[in-house]
Amino acid sequence: MNKQKDIIVIGGGIIGVSAAYYLAMQGRSVTLIEKDEICAGSSFGNAGLIANGFAIPLPAPGMPSQGLKLLLDSTSSFYIKPRPNLDLLRWLWKFYRACNEKQMLQSIAILLSLGQGSFDLFDELFAKEGTDFSYEHKGRLILYTSEDSYQGGVADAALLRDFGVEASLLDAEGIRKIEPNVLPAVTHGIYCADYAHVTPDRLTHEMAALAKSQGVELKTGISVTGFETSGQQISAIRTTEGIFTPDQVVLAAGAWSPVLANSLKLRLPIQPAKGYSLTYKRPPTSPQLPLSLAERKIAVTPMGEMLRFTSTLELAGFDPSINQQRLETIRRSVKEYLPGMEELEQETVWSGYRPATPDDLPIIERNKKFKNLILATGHGTLGMTQGLITGKLVAQIVAGKQPSIDLAPFRADRF
Ligand SMILES: Cc1cc2nc3c(=O)[nH]c(=O)nc-3n(C[C@H](O)[C@H](O)[C@H](O)COP(=O)(O)OP(=O)(O)OC[C@H]3O[C@@H](n4cnc5c(N)ncnc54)[C@H](O)[C@@H]3O)c2cc1C
Repeated sequence: MNKQKDIIVIGGGIIGVSAAYYLAMQGRSVTLIEKDEICAGSSFGNAGLIANGFAIPLPAPGMPSQGLKLLLDSTSSFYIKPRPNLDLLRWLWKFYRACNEKQMLQSIAILLSLGQGSFDLFDELFAKEGTDFSYEHKGRLILYTSEDSYQGGVADAALLRDFGVEASLLDAEGIRKIEPNVLPAVTHGIYCADYAHVTPDRLTHEMAALAKSQGVELKTGISVTGFETSGQQISAIRTTEGIFTPDQVVLAAGAWSPVLANSLKLRLPIQPAKGYSLTYKRPPTSPQLPLSLAERKIAVTPMGEMLRFTSTLELAGFDPSINQQRLETIRRSVKEYLPGMEELEQETVWSGYRPATPDDLPIIERNKKFKNLILATGHGTLGMTQGLITGKLVAQIVAGKQPSIDLAPFRADRF
């Protein structure tokens, strides 16, 4: 069966549903195709931070010496599984080349513009759609137990001040005024007000519901298996439920985007970067705002009735196995900072694949090779933050409008 469509969005994570919503708001007829169910990928169990503050990209000048040592240690929060994989080696080389001060400073400005873009869109959506998305704007507190790592945080705060990011440096007393539920081992903190947080699956499902209310057809349980092309056009999409012939295609398949792009002979430098979360019934001693446990690289996010811990970045390909040692490290580490974490109840373990590019910036463009293909992928560690603004940018690309943010840093051929 051949189904004529205006625009097909591939992928039902935060990027795909946001793109579908903003396209439909422009009056386009949109079908979203998701191989599983809405929010089955990385958008489900993540930390839910909408980060417009401490936006330092992963590739930074100190990373090759300090970070690569960590990355090869299978017990650390960062890990690369050594394997002879050409795509991974290319990715690592590009990552290494992005680890310089000039690029880091450029990326900070870009990340902040994306973060601010999403903050503005949340405000606009609350006003227009009257839904709260479980969004809370309480800031984020980074906790330190060692002087050394605190000094690293102070240097980051000084750097970010040049970009207009305000952060408060706190002593033990100052921390407890903001968050009383911390252990004596915590001696320093940095508070950044420009952070909000959401329950990520709720945000994604609510964006999907808004898209549907604007006429988007959500087709779940259908997998895109390939494409047919004619010159510089994608002429058809092959799926497990037949052939679709859209005018335009938005590829928003997260960590799976390079697999689909390969079938178009497009090479996208995106690696699946696995992370874990542990979610519990919220205990009486729960913190009231999101925390970062600096030395252990763990994010702690209170989400309504739940409390979630997230950590680790594993470059190990699509490996669904759960590393129990890592989970145990997370469980043990939170007890170094927070009281009442010994008897947490109703644990849910989750892992997901961040779609990671070597420079920690997404790929958002109308493709040069296939003129009716829009790429919206590679959002790495910040896809929840950048979802709404990416959706808006995709709609502007399709409409041929001047994008509200310069798209040059997001070109696929920048690497
Ligand atoms: C542990 C962890 C913590 C994180 N914390 C944060 C945070 O605090 N703040 C933040 O901003 N970001 C965070 N992130 C990153 C964020 O989760 C991702 O960047 C974001 O979810 C990516 O969204 P996406 O829509 O691109 O991908 P996904 O949510 O993975 O969606 C892609 C979808 O495409 C579908 N798909 C794939 N292939 C096909 C196909 N062939 N046909 C049809 N459908 C297909 C998949 O099933 C999937 O549903 C975190 C990630 C992890 C892992």
